[in-house]
Amino acid sequence: MRDMQKEILLCILLLGSFCGYPLETFGRKSQQSPFPSDIHVILIGFDGWGSYSLEKADMPNVKRMMREGAWTINKRSVLPSSSAANWASMFMGASPEIHGYTQWNSRKPEIPSRVLGENNIFPTISQLLHSQHSDARIALFYQWDGIKYVADTLSINHVVKLPKPGKDRSFGDISKIIGNYIIEERPALCAIVYDYPDHYGHASGFESDDYYLSLKEVDSSLGDIIQSTKEAGIFENTIFIVSSDHGGTGKNHGGKSLAEMETPFIVFGPNIKKGYEISESVMQYDIAATIAYIFGLKTPQAWIGRPVLSVFKNNRKTK
Ligand SMILES: [Zn+2]
Repeated sequence: MRDMQKEILLCILLLGSFCGYPLETFGRKSQQSPFPSDIHVILIGFDGWGSYSLEKADMPNVKRMMREGAWTINKRSVLPSSSAANWASMFMGASPEIHGYTQWNSRKPEIPSRVLGENNIFPTISQLLHSQHSDARIALFYQWDGIKYVADTLSINHVVKLPKPGKDRSFGDISKIIGNYIIEERPALCAIVYDYPDHYGHASGFESDDYYLSLKEVDSSLGDIIQSTKEAGIFENTIFIVSSDHGGTGKNHGGKSLAEMETPFIVFGPNIKKGYEISESVMQYDIAATIAYIFGLKTPQAWIGRPVLSVFKNNRKTK
C-alpha cells in the first residue's frame, strides 16, 4: 500500500513537470500564491533614464506610481552601462558574463551563452512564460532595433517596432498603437521600450532641456498605457514595472559613474506595497526574476537574478 502511494505521488509529480509547472509551486499555486492566475505584467523601459534626473523631471505618472507603489533609485546597471548588455540582462535574468551579450549593440553574444534555451537563445523571461504557460499572450513594443536581438522574439506572440514621433505622429498616436493592442488582446506580459531619453541624451546631453522634454513625453505615454489597461478591464490585475537600462553623463554612457549606472525601478499594482522605498540591492537581472516570481515560473539554474520580494505585501514562501 505504501509503495502504491509512492507511485501515485510520483505520477502526480511527473504530471506536474510535464505540464510545465514548477514542482515547488505545483499543487499550491492557487492557495498560497498572492497573485491570481490571470495576473498581467506590463514592463515599461525608458532607454537612458538615469536616477539623477528624477528630482528635476516632470514625470507625474512615474511619481504617482512611486507614491502608490514600491521603488528604488539605486538599481544598478551591469557593466558596461550600455544598452544591449543591459536590456539582455533585464530580459535574461543573468549578467553579460553568463548570457554573453556584452556591448551597446550586441546582436549575437560575443561570449558563447552559458546555456541555450528553446530558440537557441539564452533563456529569456518570455521564453519561460511561453514554454510554461503556452496560452499566455506576450507582446513587445520597441523603438530601437537592438531590442529585438536580446528579447527572443520567437517566444513573443506580438512584436511591433513603434514609429518615431514627428510631424505626422505625436507620442499620443504611438500610445494608441500600444493601447489598442492591450484593449483587444489583454496580454499576460507586455514589454514596451521607448528609445527617446537616450536619443536626446546623445544628441543634446543627458542634462539638456531636450532630454527632460523626452522624459515628460514618455511619462505621458505611460499615463496613456495605464488608461488603456482600465479600458481593457485588467487594471486591477496588472502589475506595472517601470525601469531603464542605464543613465548617462555629458552626451554619453557606458562608464562606471553612478549617473550612468543607477536607474529607477518602480513596481505598482495589486499586492504591491504603497509608497515603499526598497532598501535592498536591486540589479538589472533581478527584473526578469521578479516577473518570473509573479507568474510562478521555474527559472533556469544559469539565472542569477533574484525576485525583489520586499515589494509584495504577501510573499509566497521561497525555498
Ligand atoms: Zn540604452
